[in-house]
Amino acid sequence: MADSIAELIFIPAPGVGHIISTIEIAKLLVTRDHQLSITVLVINPPPTFGSGSAITTYIQSLANTTMDRISFIELPQDKTRQDSKAPMAAFTDFINSHCKHVRKIVADKMSQPDSGRVAGFVVDMFCTGMIDVANEFNVPTFVFFTSNAAFLGFKLYIQTLSDNKNQDVVELSNSDSTISVPSFVKPVPTKVFPTICQSQEGLEFVLGSARKLREAKAIIVNTFLELETHAIDSLSKESTIPMVYPVGPILNLEAGAGKASSDDDIIAWLDTQPPSSVVFLCFGSMGSFDEDQVKEIANGLERSGHRFLWSLRRPPSDQTSRAPSDYEDPETVLPEGFLERTAGIGKVTGWVPQVAVLAHVAVGGFVSHCGWNSLLESLWFGVPSAAWPIYAEQQINAFEMVVELGLAVEIKLDYKKDFFNPKADKVTAEEIESGVRRLMEDNKVRTEVKEMREKSRAAVLEGGSSYASVGRLILDVKRNIL
Ligand code: UDP
Repeated sequence: MADSIAELIFIPAPGVGHIISTIEIAKLLVTRDHQLSITVLVINPPPTFGSGSAITTYIQSLANTTMDRISFIELPQDKTRQDSKAPMAAFTDFINSHCKHVRKIVADKMSQPDSGRVAGFVVDMFCTGMIDVANEFNVPTFVFFTSNAAFLGFKLYIQTLSDNKNQDVVELSNSDSTISVPSFVKPVPTKVFPTICQSQEGLEFVLGSARKLREAKAIIVNTFLELETHAIDSLSKESTIPMVYPVGPILNLEAGAGKASSDDDIIAWLDTQPPSSVVFLCFGSMGSFDEDQVKEIANGLERSGHRFLWSLRRPPSDQTSRAPSDYEDPETVLPEGFLERTAGIGKVTGWVPQVAVLAHVAVGGFVSHCGWNSLLESLWFGVPSAAWPIYAEQQINAFEMVVELGLAVEIKLDYKKDFFNPKADKVTAEEIESGVRRLMEDNKVRTEVKEMREKSRAAVLEGGSSYASVGRLILDVKRNIL
């Protein structure tokens, strides 16, 4: 790192949907500016994620990677921590328990004469507690927001409602109404609010995180102007919100997380299918369903008559484990005879190489949990989505895609199944069948998505909106040390 004049300290959150895009923006920054170097401080996931999970595999792969001007340091994990508190407070404590290690590493760095000068921290939206550490060293913090601008606006607006307008957001979140949110053109139904806002404990987490976001020097968002024109515009008009840099789509188009030998089988199977004929179902790193729901999906798919590739994952076995895993034998949860009846036109699998699947010419539609990375990936490849949100902010993402932007069809916008709401309502086979039919047969959405595909690619090329935004971000970073 001897030639670099500015070093950034990156702190990603330990989730697949967070760390992959964070490493990609790190790569982009050092490619765009040869005077920049980056040290990534890696927080390992808590033990409850399981040792074979995609995130663990991805982190292990980083340890064996050499990247020019990017180095990785895995942070030690505090073994004596007690997770007896409410879940979100425990999560904040878990992240913040790494502050002391970050402090030590940065202090060591600053005492070395040959290292580049630390120009700032770039921390994940869930690691904003690190802003306090950056402040101790008198360096600015840039937050990397791995979701969309509309949701960023939502989060900040919720905090304004609670802190400045004295509104009871928990009550609002549990009501059945709509509210006007500046980052959306259309009124937002309260039924698509994240479940986390429905309890005081969860809301406190959102509010705390929104307050910290306002302390950042700037917020880097994985989105692009042509996709979220209104949301980005509304954020930039608000003087109390830090500068927003839309830099996306930031995607890992090469490997993807958790590469396995079964990946080749999946691609080989897709090779045998006609163009745009296959519905791909995948529900993110944490999505899974109980057996009843699995049977409804199977029946819905069978009735739709469409070809399918289904990433089917087993729910965590107990409260101590958070992440789903692959079934040894999915037949045990599928309707009797399903696999024989659909042989040749359908494939059921576990974790998939999602980017490679979406890139495949045989894939014609994507039933998605609406994780933001998944949506950006599907737009990049021009594959329309059917929205079936599950956890986190996915209901808001789904609302944005289906209602606000007309870039997806609906399966069920207010489906919720997560830590705060473990017992979800069932989505019936009829609803799934009709969603899949609309997905595969609605040409309006398909045409819009194809246009957005071109815009997403243009945004990151020289002359594109995100390319320019990254340039401005780099100037902003370097301004701190020049
Ligand atoms: N992913 C994958 N295979 C899977 C499930 C997910 O490669 O079977 C990848 C997906 O391509 C995306 C990321 O994991 O890049 C998931 O991020 P997203 O924001 O969509 O959802 P999250 O997992 O954070 O809910």
